[in-house]
Amino acid sequence: MLTLEPAKSSQPVKLGRVLIVEDEELIRETVALALREEGYEVFAIEDGRTALDLAHRSEEGGYPALLSFDLIILDLMLPYVSGLDLCRLIRHEGNAVPILMLSAKGSETDRVVGLEVGADDYLTKPFGMRELVARCRALLRRYRPSQTQSQEATLRFQDVTLYPQECRVTVRGEEINLSPKEFRILELFMSHPRRVWSREQLIERVWGPDFMGDSKTVDVHIRWLREKLEDDPSHPKYLMTVRGFGYRFG
Ligand code: CA
Repeated sequence: MLTLEPAKSSQPVKLGRVLIVEDEELIRETVALALREEGYEVFAIEDGRTALDLAHRSEEGGYPALLSFDLIILDLMLPYVSGLDLCRLIRHEGNAVPILMLSAKGSETDRVVGLEVGADDYLTKPFGMRELVARCRALLRRYRPSQTQSQEATLRFQDVTLYPQECRVTVRGEEINLSPKEFRILELFMSHPRRVWSREQLIERVWGPDFMGDSKTVDVHIRWLREKLEDDPSHPKYLMTVRGFGYRFG
């Protein structure tokens, strides 16, 4: 059963369309209100099963499909289907929408697991609305660069082509599915061929200065990228390990 708040489809989409999946009514309502006041189009639902319904639904009856959101705010603990499982599913289906995960738990393990299943950012309850709005703004800015930014050229290296404007990567002409983080790492590497990046520099540039997780997260993402890019991930020809320093591309 869909328990979406009334869809205000007549309102123009100004800053982006945000989905909140949160079972605690007070948090759900407060977050929705704060983001609406900022000018976002907000849909709020209270459990994971309803979110799954949206994942397999085309846009009809005023309720948008999961694919059409610009940002998803996911609570970790949800009835029926957890936020982690939802996040995994969204990424598994190749949807690169930015995901901000919320959790009542403050443990480092939760944060790392959240980020490793494909969340882009993580916020521990209780949090202030200004903090939340700032994180949302940053995520949307990072993944949907404004029209006024200069046109970036296509990046090519041997068989790999990256289209910054379209957030698309092909290997020998075949499109590959990358998460937003994987895409950002590859874009950074391909913009600076052969430059060596330390894990700390990659975290700073890709995850942002507020990232509290482990630098192992970088290694995990490099491994995933190799699996998608390389003919033989254990003998990479693109993503090279520079022992004692970090990684370079080419
Ligand atoms: Ca919850």
